[in-house]
Amino acid sequence: MSTEERPLNFLEQIIKKDLESGATNKLVTRFPPEPNGFLHIGHAKAICLNFGLAETFDGACHLRFDDTNPEKEEAAYVEAIKKDLVWLGFKWEGDIRYASNYFDTFYQWAQHLINEGKAYVCDLSAEQAREYRGTLKEAGKHSPFRERSAEESTDLLERMKNGEFDEGSKVLRAKIDMSHGNINMRDPILYRIRKQNHHQTGDKWCIYPTYDFAHGQEDAIEGITHSICTLEFADHRPLYEWFIENLPVPSRPRQYEFGRLNLDYTVTSKRKLKQLVDEGVVDGWDDPRIPTIAGYRRRGYTPQSIRKFCEMIGVTKSDGVVEVSMLEHAIRDDLDKNSARAMCVLHPLKVVLTNYDSDKTELLSAAGHPNREDLPTRELPFGREVYIDQADFREEANKKYKRLVIGKRVRLRGAYVIEADSATKDEQGNIIEVQARVIPNTVGNNPEDGIKPKGVIHWVAAHQHCKFDVYLYDRLFTEAQPGSGDTDFMQQINPESLSIQKDCMGEPGLANAELGQSFQFEREGYFCRDTQQSDALIFNRTISLKDSWGKQAAPAAPKKT
Ligand code: ATP
Ligand code: MG
Repeated sequence: MSTEERPLNFLEQIIKKDLESGATNKLVTRFPPEPNGFLHIGHAKAICLNFGLAETFDGACHLRFDDTNPEKEEAAYVEAIKKDLVWLGFKWEGDIRYASNYFDTFYQWAQHLINEGKAYVCDLSAEQAREYRGTLKEAGKHSPFRERSAEESTDLLERMKNGEFDEGSKVLRAKIDMSHGNINMRDPILYRIRKQNHHQTGDKWCIYPTYDFAHGQEDAIEGITHSICTLEFADHRPLYEWFIENLPVPSRPRQYEFGRLNLDYTVTSKRKLKQLVDEGVVDGWDDPRIPTIAGYRRRGYTPQSIRKFCEMIGVTKSDGVVEVSMLEHAIRDDLDKNSARAMCVLHPLKVVLTNYDSDKTELLSAAGHPNREDLPTRELPFGREVYIDQADFREEANKKYKRLVIGKRVRLRGAYVIEADSATKDEQGNIIEVQARVIPNTVGNNPEDGIKPKGVIHWVAAHQHCKFDVYLYDRLFTEAQPGSGDTDFMQQINPESLSIQKDCMGEPGLANAELGQSFQFEREGYFCRDTQQSDALIFNRTISLKDSWGKQAAPAAPKKT
């Protein structure tokens, strides 16, 4: 949906006004991930928003890694995030930026604040600092180090930087207001000692700026005009503005907040996702059961479906939980239109066509897609023995069952109408083979005797098919809001979130499926060839044909929490 087809969201309204009034010359936004995990669907919302605004208003969007915390960050995450952005189809303006590129400037600005009497080195321990901070109802107390001279603080900061002091022994704090109603303004920390190697700056620094001291200044350095972040940063805005007021910054960005995306039946927090990965609950950051972009990609979601979903949920000033069925609607719709059709039998049952010559075979053909002529026609070998799904045969059934029943007819999709005569069982009474007859001249025609089949089922030829395993995914959590209240999300894992169906039988063409290629396995769902296990033929179920969880077919509006 372009902005011409729907009302402008609140950010679009603000930007439109700023551009019209001349307050903004050219819109510049940014997406600022911290490289401490893979991107998830919540990030996709922020990405579509920031890059989308730049597209809509002819502006630019930067990609900036907010790499101020070396402890949890890794170069591997940087690469993964770049890959996801490219896959989603967005282009950042200019080079990739890193907050760590600005460490020298931040350090000069810290010295500037010290010289202005607006920052000081404080030796309180973390615990003491907490006591001095006060509470929401009670003002804080001044640190005994607050009136330290600028010379002394400058010297100490330099020595902190050079590694002369232990971690936790000193911090640099802004001198603002210990009785401020907003606790973020009570002399917040600007720098802390961390004797850690950094993936961009190596061992150069023994101190690292806090998120608060870095974030707004990064935006100012880059000339970001509209600095868009999620609601939890609204309380930090006064501090963000204090820094902009009190530092010699080259531009004055303005911060706006929007509601985070939460999806039901999953977790959208890098910390929780990392726990699932680290504890081996899932098979890595690209496990198809977790809501990472990499997981969705491996599962067979398309960039278009994720972008469409982000359009559908819109942008508001409140947090909410969106039903995952909305995202599922977006991918189903996309795959219905674009994926090639194929037949695959998940639980094979042999059918012998007793009136069909044992040495005869035919090559039938079927459309690649019911209304996409650009998708190639498929070749379907046919012979005396075929496999159908166990669920598609019953010895007896009522009229509602429109599949194969003894004495009744069914059409094999793209092939003959057949009629079942008898079934063979093993010692436990399981049906192991069905004997049936082909009704002559029924490929593409109704039976000449006028007795039409009630239904159509899928099948593969016994003499020519390919075999593979199918991974069937279900929701990873049993609860709609895992971890809500006092519950532990790790105790709410759905034990049946993955089931592997071995030795499925597919039409021969599936042997040539490319890695990541999507298909609709007729009557079964949408599947894509797994990209990680490239020597084997394995298909992941992206999504079933119909929603078997929620009752509603159409997406519902996001629910407020
Ligand atoms: P997490 O809590 O999962 O670690 P984060 O906010 O710490 O997420 P960042 O890497 O700092 O992750 O986020 C980069 C950008 O993505 C930020 O602007 C952030 O506001 C946005 N973002 C992160 N999670 C969501 C979400 N669930 N919905 C919308 N935007 C999000
Ligand atoms: Mg963060």
